[in-house]
Amino acid sequence: KTVLVIGGSFAGYQTAKRLSETLPTGYKVVLVERNSHLHYVFVFPRFSVVSGKEQYVFIPYTGLVRGAPEGIIKVVTDEVVRMSDGFVELKNGGKLWFEYLVFATGTTAALPGKVAATEREGGVKELRDMQERIERATRIAVVGGGTVGVEVASDIKDFWKEKDVTLVHSRARLLTRFGEGLSGYVVKRLEEMGVEVRLSERPDMEVEAGVLRFASREEDEYDLIIPCTGQRPNSSILSALSPFSISKENSQVVVKPSLQIIDGRFPHVFALGDVTATGGPKMARSALFQAEVVVKNILSLIKGTSKLEAYKPNFLLEGAIKLTREW
Ligand SMILES: Cc1cc2nc3c(=O)[nH]c(=O)nc-3n(C[C@H](O)[C@H](O)[C@H](O)COP(=O)(O)OP(=O)(O)OC[C@H]3O[C@@H](n4cnc5c(N)ncnc54)[C@H](O)[C@@H]3O)c2cc1C
Repeated sequence: KTVLVIGGSFAGYQTAKRLSETLPTGYKVVLVERNSHLHYVFVFPRFSVVSGKEQYVFIPYTGLVRGAPEGIIKVVTDEVVRMSDGFVELKNGGKLWFEYLVFATGTTAALPGKVAATEREGGVKELRDMQERIERATRIAVVGGGTVGVEVASDIKDFWKEKDVTLVHSRARLLTRFGEGLSGYVVKRLEEMGVEVRLSERPDMEVEAGVLRFASREEDEYDLIIPCTGQRPNSSILSALSPFSISKENSQVVVKPSLQIIDGRFPHVFALGDVTATGGPKMARSALFQAEVVVKNILSLIKGTSKLEAYKPNFLLEGAIKLTREW
């Protein structure tokens, strides 16, 4: 019998690993992931700016299988294109059957947040291309003042002091997901570094032409515009199975506290990580906590226990970054 995990990044990888350590005899875990390697996205913004280490940020899946008991875990490099109750269909043909399903398909974003390539060589090339574009540019606008935008803007200015860097953000505060005091501190530090920060601005972007048009009708030209404006949940393949489980508001997968999808017809289908509306922070650490809940609940269902554990977000443990300690 199979527990099928779709998506092998932080959420799916940890779930598959923990299942391989805990599933009873007669069960195996199959992880299907479209990328040949795990993408260590934490460092993508830095290695979009700085060269020399980009080849190390794509991690093979061999470590997941090595050391696990023979046959307990299998990694399939392919993309799930269609979901049904009991099996999924793959891009390269073929089907994978399951008794339990874990949906961990995360989000899509543009570089410097994520790369589009599914093979390591393509990912390395995308990072190197961005490094070269930044190196060639003199006037650079970073649009979006979340974690990725703030890191990219400050890294460019830190490593290329002579470049003219502007960070544009639509809200009155940077890093809106974090504590209120953080924005003031970060704006001050960015300005000390020489980054121009423009808050409460949502300019029209002509990325290829390098033009930002502000509400004041002011038009600014740049050698390079780097949009860092958010991530889209990869939830569409679930719509064939349970359209009702996808939020109309934000396309995230709606789940019960047990992390089963909200659609009561599918108690054996779970979802976690960034694709899911869990109420918890959208961070890898949060996905690791959620993986424990999913694994415990699958084991309970296998044992025939109907009382399941609930995921309760803990923002202090799951959502903190080093900077938030004082702010
Ligand atoms: C630049 C950046 C820096 C970050 N820094 C931190 C940090 O310092 N600390 C922290 O805790 N968090 C950080 N985060 C957030 C963290 O990376 C995410 O919360 C985490 O990656 C979410 O994991 P996930 O597995 O839910 O989704 P994702 O990481 O989005 O992964 C989803 C996976 O599913 C695969 N997939 C999708 N659809 C299919 C399909 N149909 N078939 C097969 N495979 C599929 C994708 O290829 C991908 O590998 C950062 C994020 C970014 C972008």
